Order: sequence, then structure tokens, then C-alpha cells
Amino acid sequence: MTTNLDPKVQAEIQNFMRGLVRRNPGETEFHQAVEEVVTSLMPYVLETPKYRDVAILERMTEPDRIVIFRVCWEDDQGNIRTNRAWRVQFNNSIGPYKGGMRFHPSVTQSVLKFLGFEQTFKNSLTGLPMGGGKGGSNFNPKGKSDHEVMRFCQSLMIELSRHIGEDTDVPAGDIGVGAREISYMFGQYKRLQNRFASVLTGKALSFGGSLIRTEATGYGATYFMQNMLNTRKDAIAGKTVAVSGSGNVALYCIQKVAELGGVVVTASDSDGFIYDRDGIRGEKWEFLRDLKEVRRGRISAYAEKFGCEYFAGQKPWGVPVQLAFPCATQNELNGDDAATLVKNGLQALAEGANMPCTPEAIAHFMDSKVLYAPGKASNAGGVSVSGLEQSQNALRISWSREEVDHRLQGIMRDIHATCLKYGTKPDGSVNYVDGANIGGFVKVADAMLAYGCV
Ligand code: NDP
Repeated sequence: MTTNLDPKVQAEIQNFMRGLVRRNPGETEFHQAVEEVVTSLMPYVLETPKYRDVAILERMTEPDRIVIFRVCWEDDQGNIRTNRAWRVQFNNSIGPYKGGMRFHPSVTQSVLKFLGFEQTFKNSLTGLPMGGGKGGSNFNPKGKSDHEVMRFCQSLMIELSRHIGEDTDVPAGDIGVGAREISYMFGQYKRLQNRFASVLTGKALSFGGSLIRTEATGYGATYFMQNMLNTRKDAIAGKTVAVSGSGNVALYCIQKVAELGGVVVTASDSDGFIYDRDGIRGEKWEFLRDLKEVRRGRISAYAEKFGCEYFAGQKPWGVPVQLAFPCATQNELNGDDAATLVKNGLQALAEGANMPCTPEAIAHFMDSKVLYAPGKASNAGGVSVSGLEQSQNALRISWSREEVDHRLQGIMRDIHATCLKYGTKPDGSVNYVDGANIGGFVKVADAMLAYGCV
């Protein structure tokens, strides 16, 4: 990703990355996320004297702290089970740590460090006073009973409650952590602390949740896509669209794209993808939401119900589309997938997931002049509405659906404007990666400089 850069800048990046890899051995996801950011930032840092000589990148790539702990819980057969959990408190320069909890067997310290690092930039881009954090466990909620999930969440919160607080660290959901898990964790926190505090977001409406929070990441990614297409005097209406995943982000991205006149032809889970040429909308979308949010079933059931094609073990990137929203997980779209999408007429891609595109895929999109939005900009809608949930809790009021949606649209528009401000090149083209990275960096870096040697 460094090929178009001045050789001196390239050497600085390589030197920086050598140090980072030495200090964080084996953490490949973290290395990947940092390299993308540092590639954008290094030219800017080198030409800005106030950042150049103060080791700002070294400081920003070292988390404030990481808490690692054992979570013991009892399964329905009476066996004692042990998982590992983490909370990565990455940077609280501009506000309390904020970022989701992920429950998935693929969770490692490296994955959570990459997510916490990205979250710092994303939260800064939203314009709200939120620092960056992330947490999770290698616990797999799939196939577990509600009681098992409850016992796990309660056990995890016994330790996590010591490290979080409304002015310290406010976790939310992520992969494997939805309304059910947030409720169990919040109930346990309340019990342990005897306080009804705004210490988690993504809560149910009846105990402090915000309208639109469930929809926010998917809606936000769609609004970001609208903003990008506007720069080419284009729109979502009439476009054929591929979405991956069928969880929280994917479901509401599909719903909003369909509402704006796009035809979403794919959705997926870790077993395969469905190809519905007529578009996932109306009753079919309702079925999919119920399948995934309530019945916790597999996506193949959609194909059985509606008689569309199902491709086991495959990803949707071979389907001809003009727009794409990868909304499942990191590194789900590689260089070959990108080449296929571009060959089939892809015009724009907005990341709903965090780091779903590999560096090779991103390079290919940029070389091909595809509008490409990195997740830290395009999926910031979720944490933005989490920030709005905290504001409502602090004020002890609830905004209407329209009010929250209006604010969300405004935040996504502002993030897009920030990307244009910092990412527009002399030839008029926009590099959204540079725009998001530099735009997110400035506020955090300036706060750190103001605090002195921290
Ligand atoms: P969910 O758990 O609700 O859904 C995840 C979806 O991705 C499921 O369809 C899941 O399929 C699929 N998936 C997960 N892991 C893999 C894998 N290794 N290979 C293939 N498919 C996989 O999570 P969310 O929708 O909340 O999160 C999705 C992405 O969006 C993540 O990258 C997350 O960090 C990011 N994100 C989420 C936000 C939010 O508000 N929820 C905010 C910003 C970013 P299966 O059911 O088979 O596991």
C-alpha cells in the first residue's frame, strides 16, 4: 500500500512498522490496521512540525491498558467451562473509552487491539466526546441456551464491572453481542453496583435504550454511500447491491438500501450466501430478520422458503453488482474478490464491518476509481447513536425516532465532509482512507499534545 509514496516516507513507514511488529509479535490483525492508518498519516505527520518530533504515532499505537481475565460459567449439563475475556482501553484523550464487546471463537488480543485502535479514530470522526476501546471473549454464543448465555454474561460482568463506568468506559454490542447479551450484562452490573448507570449502550428501550440504535450502523453505512454517490451526481435508487452477513449491521443496511430503491440481491452467514435476484425486501426482509434475530437460524432457510439460489461455503463477491456493503467480519473480501467485483461493474463500496477488505482489495478499488469507504467512516453510525443514547440517559429524556435518525444523518454527512476535507487530492479525486485517518487523528493527537507527555 505504500507504492505511490515518496521513498523517504516509505522508509519511515517501514521503520515504524518494524518497531511495531517487534513490540507486538504475532498480532497480525493489529499490524494490518496500524499499517493502513500509518500509511495515511506518515506524510501528514512528517510535514506538520507539532506532530513530527513528539513520537505521536508510537503513543497512539500503544493502548492505555488491556485487562485480561478468566470467565468461568456452568453449562446446562453442569460442566464448568472456562473462557478468556479482554477489555482493551485504547485511548481516552477525547472522552471515556467506548466500543463494543465481541463474543466469537475467533476473538484474540490481536483482533481486539485492531478494533480498539480503529475505534479511537472512528469515535473522533463522529464529533462526539468518545475515546476508543473494545472488548470481548472467545466464548461462542452459537448453539448455547439462553440460560448458558446468561450465566456467561453474568460471570463476565463480575470482573468487567470493576473497569467500566459512565465516565470511564462504556461498552456496547458487536459480533455475537446483541440485545439479549447487553441486557444480561446490564442487569448484572446494576445488581453488583446498586446503581442504574449509563454504563452500556444498546440497551432495550424499556431501560434506557435509544430508538434507532439497532438500525444505526446499517442505516449509517447506507447514508454514507448516498453521500459518496452524491459527489458523482448519482444515487442508490435502481442499483443492484451485494451485502454480506445477516447480523445486526447487514439486516438494517439491507432494509435502508431497499427503502432508497436499491435492489439487494445477496446476504450471507458463515455457512454460505443467498442470491435473490428479485431483491430482499418487504416480507422477505421480515422473514430474514426473524430468522436471524429471533430464531437464530441459518441463512439457507431463506433460500428454502423463497426458492432462490443458495451457495454453501461461498461469499457473495462473484455476483454482478454496482454497489457492495461487506457487513460480516474482518478480511472477508480479498484482492481476487475485488478484481471480480470491479470486472463485473462495481462502482462503490462502503464497509459495514470493521476491516472487511484486505489491503490488496483496497488497493484494487482505489486503482480502479471505485468509491471506497473504510469502516471507520462508513460504519460509525452505530457508535454515534450509542453516543446519543448516553446523552439521552444523562439528560433523562428520550428522543423520537425521527429526531435520532435526523441526528444520525447529520453525523454521517459531517463524517463524509471531514473525509473530503482531509482526503481530496490535487487532481480532485477523493481518498476516503486518508480522509478518515487524518480526520480522526487530528482531534485525538491535539488533545494528547495538550496533555503533555502522556
Ligand atoms: P452479528 O453477530 O450481528 O452478525 C455477524 C454476521 O457476520 C453474521 O451473519 C455472521 O454469520 C457473519 N460472520 C461472523 N463471523 C464470520 C466469519 N468469520 N465468516 C463469515 N461470516 C461471519 O454482528 P454485527 O452485525 O454487529 O457486526 C458485523 C460487523 O460489523 C463486525 O465487523 C463488527 O465489528 C462491525 N460493526 C458492528 C457495529 C454494530 O453496531 N453492531 C458497529 C460498527 C461495526 P454467523 O451467524 O454464521 O456467525
